Amino acid sequence: MALSKKKAQKEISKHTLQAESIFKASMKEEGYRCTRERLVVFREIYASNNHLDADEIFVRLKKKGASISRATVYHTLDLLFKFHLVNKIDLGHKHTHYEKSYGVDNHLHIICEQCDRVIEVHSSELNEILEKLCKKNGFTLGSFSLQVFAECREETEHHRCKLKPRDSTRTSER
Ligand SMILES: [Zn+2]
Ligand SMILES: [Zn+2]
Repeated sequence: MALSKKKAQKEISKHTLQAESIFKASMKEEGYRCTRERLVVFREIYASNNHLDADEIFVRLKKKGASISRATVYHTLDLLFKFHLVNKIDLGHKHTHYEKSYGVDNHLHIICEQCDRVIEVHSSELNEILEKLCKKNGFTLGSFSLQVFAECREETEHHRCKLKPRDSTRTSER
C-alpha cells in the first residue's frame, strides 16, 4: 500500500516536471516571458489534487509569502488553459475552478447541489460513449472534463450532506 502510494507520488512529480517544461516551451514559443510569478502559479496548481479557483490560489500564494497580484494569477491561469495544462470546471459557483490536466485522465465530476461535495469518477465506458458520439458527429474526441449536478446521500463519519437534518441541530437550524 505504502509502496503504491509512493509510486503514485513519483508519477505525479514526473508529470509535473513534464508539464512544466511544456509550459516554459509554450511561453517561449508564443513570446510570453517566463516569469517567476507564472511558475509559482503553475507549481501551486500542479502541487494540488483539488479544484481551485483563482482567489484560492492567490490566497495560498500570499500565505506562502509570494509577491504576486490577483491579475497575474488570473492571467497565468488563462495561459495554462490556452496551453492545455489546466481544465476549467464549473462546480456550480459563480466563478471558474481549475485543475491540472497534464497526466490526469479525463474524468467526470459529480457535484452535490446541496453541500457542494465533489467527487471524481473515471470511467472507460463513459470514454467509449463520448468517443462514439464524437465520431458519429464527425469529431475526434480530445479531452473532456464533465460536470454532473446531483444530490449526495452519503453519510459517513467524515461527511454528512449539509441539508440532511442532524437530530441535535435540527431545531436550532429552523
Ligand atoms: Zn477533477
Ligand atoms: Zn451533499
